[in-house]
Amino acid sequence: MDQRNHRVAIIAGDGIGPEVTDQALKAIHAAGEKCGFRIHTEPYDLGGTRYLATGEVLPDSVEEELAGFDAILIGAVGTPEVPPGILERGLLLRLRFDFELYVNLRPIKLLPGVPTPIAGLTPDRCDMLVLRENTEGPYVGTGGVLRKGTPAEVATQESVNTRFGVERIVRYGFEQAMGRRLHLTLCHKTNVLIYAGDLWDRTVGELAEQYPDIKVEYAHVDALCLHMVTQPERFDVIVTDNLFGDIITDLGAAVQGGMGLAASGNINPERTYPSLFEPVHGSAPDIVGRGWANPAAAVLSAAMCLDHLGEVEGATLLEEAVAGVLPTLKSMGGPDMGASTDQLGDRIATAVADND
Ligand code: ATP
Repeated sequence: MDQRNHRVAIIAGDGIGPEVTDQALKAIHAAGEKCGFRIHTEPYDLGGTRYLATGEVLPDSVEEELAGFDAILIGAVGTPEVPPGILERGLLLRLRFDFELYVNLRPIKLLPGVPTPIAGLTPDRCDMLVLRENTEGPYVGTGGVLRKGTPAEVATQESVNTRFGVERIVRYGFEQAMGRRLHLTLCHKTNVLIYAGDLWDRTVGELAEQYPDIKVEYAHVDALCLHMVTQPERFDVIVTDNLFGDIITDLGAAVQGGMGLAASGNINPERTYPSLFEPVHGSAPDIVGRGWANPAAAVLSAAMCLDHLGEVEGATLLEEAVAGVLPTLKSMGGPDMGASTDQLGDRIATAVADND
């Protein structure tokens, strides 16, 4: 395929996943028409519903097919009937590990007109990019259990940190900071996690010498949580490990206005494998089928996907459309949103088409 044709696998998934993905696709296609690119989509039936029906999470043959796409878009996977861990480990973590999606990219940006729980916070003070290491840390699954179910049970869960893994995400962080406000914060807990923390700290220090224009700071994860709420303007690019990143990005989602607005990319910077884009929220079974889901996170994830595919103008169109439509809502999701998921998707697609 040439540069202006892109093949994207669509895993709409469960719950509100298909509802919000439909809106993202409308926006993508509207942008394609306007900018002169085509996105060829192929749906993949994966997630909780498929698992319950067939017992399959991610067959090897499907993973092989997915590897051939330019990118993957996910809506949300998970149903209450599927025990926790099965889809996370069997689908999401497996794709992250097997496709070397070692950067979890999470922009945390307060858009104008979006209510935030932080009183007095203005958009000019909240624009950061969290880079969460996505393939190591406590998520690799090493550890074990002894004497299970007895009063003497022992459980260990190890955090794996390699120089290779830390260096590649830290380097990505410096590169991102070069294109932003030249500021990078390492978030860790070096005073307690002394071995892993030392590896992260030294790696950042060594790479910093190659990026003399970038101001480098360090924040313990607990202090960072405090400052993300009280002084988010302190942060530009934040680089952190898998577990800390998981936690602080949910805090960030709250600061930027809620789960319905938080987008993410799981990036393989070398482009050996397709990168994967998904809203941070889950399948939200409590609001499925009601038209209460805010599709903004899905559309903003699609914008990140377009950006990754080199369709920068298309990505900007999607972002501007979302930024224009959100202030017209009565709430950022739920029964009192003031428009249905579908209506919002139409408004976003129209705003993309009408943008001049
Ligand atoms: P998980 O898969 O993370 O266990 P979940 O589906 O139970 O997730 P989340 O998606 O994290 O939960 O969302 C928590 C709640 O926030 C949902 O139950 C829902 O009420 C609300 N929510 C999530 N996404 C949206 C959205 N896009 N629009 C409106 N409300 C949402």
